[in-house]
Amino acid sequence: MATKKNWNKRTRAVHAGTRRSAYGEVSEALFLTQGFVYPTAEAAEARFEALGEDEFIYARYGNPTVRMFEDRMADMLGYADGFACTSGMAAVSGALMALSKAGDHVVSSRALFGSCLYVLEEILARFGVEITLVDGTDNSAWAAAIRPETTLVFLESISNPTLEIIDLAHVCKLAHGVGAKVIVDDVMATPIYSYAADCGADLAVVSTTKHVDGQGRMLGGLIAGSKELIRGPIEAYLKHTGGAMNPFTAWTHLKALETLDLRVRQQSRTAMAIAEALDGHPKLAAVRYPTHSAHPQHALARSQAETGGTVMTLEVKGGKEACFSFLNALELFTISNNFADAKSIVTHPATTTHQRLPQDQKDLLGISGGLVRLSAGLEDADDLIDDLRTALAAI
Ligand SMILES: *Cc1c(COP(=O)(O)O)cnc(C)c1O
Repeated sequence: MATKKNWNKRTRAVHAGTRRSAYGEVSEALFLTQGFVYPTAEAAEARFEALGEDEFIYARYGNPTVRMFEDRMADMLGYADGFACTSGMAAVSGALMALSKAGDHVVSSRALFGSCLYVLEEILARFGVEITLVDGTDNSAWAAAIRPETTLVFLESISNPTLEIIDLAHVCKLAHGVGAKVIVDDVMATPIYSYAADCGADLAVVSTTKHVDGQGRMLGGLIAGSKELIRGPIEAYLKHTGGAMNPFTAWTHLKALETLDLRVRQQSRTAMAIAEALDGHPKLAAVRYPTHSAHPQHALARSQAETGGTVMTLEVKGGKEACFSFLNALELFTISNNFADAKSIVTHPATTTHQRLPQDQKDLLGISGGLVRLSAGLEDADDLIDDLRTALAAI
């Protein structure tokens, strides 16, 4: 379905990109098929020569259910096109690999999700790509690192887990000044509050495992960008290397998009309510939520988005030992390593998601023994705050 220009994101999340079969079904159809048939040999030849709008060849290249999801997500994020992938990391690595070659120079913020850092430092570097890591919160560090030969800039708009905020418009301006492309890992900003397109990022990459699924079931990812980039190097790389999303995942994601706005708005409100309730608590050294006044970069966060997403952090006084007794005393929050689930989750990054990071890098990034990442779910905010207060009292 063609999207009207003045539709709000909430409407786009329900209707954009809908394709109906000859049966006129209301709910999006699940085309669980690998291949497609051709009425004649000539028709097959013609389709391999040039693919029409509604034509498909093989599900590794494209599938009607997956295409609906790609069109809807791209439309919501403010981009012309999208390619859906098996996971967030298939999307991140696909975007980076598709746009890199030996001898290139990539600048990235240092505060990254562990697997993103691995792809840059261990994989791209192995193929002769030079990587420069910078403190993403320091505008002058970006200016110093981006050089005429820089080809790509990579960053997380809000970093996981330390919630560093990057001045995205500033970085895009610097990168475009030398002809480099900007890839934004946009997970923490959430698809509802995403500002990657507004700030001029060339590609926005999303782990749809997080807010889009939102109920802890499916792995998925998506790369959004211009038609030239998506149907050019991105599609070419992904369709030949096999990272395309499964139609069943795309179908569950399409249904999940219908409630995305409600869920993300509510979960963001709850995260802010927890930050307000716990700020200044005597057992906590810090409470961080991007748009809350206790976050050192809250002014920048507020200038970029209406709210800071569904994740916040607490710094428990007394290091790992005190922190573990707090975590073990929680009843409602689940100890896990994912986030953006309907169920509220707590994570201890230093011993789980970032366990393997050398101590000096943990220190540099602020991933301390007392740091807790907290993902606000869909439960009642007062029940969650009670659970946190009770567990803090138990330390
Ligand atoms: C989760 C996450 C990813 C990876 O997504 P998967 O779907 O788990 O592959 C990448 N970047 C960030 C910032 C994430 O939070």
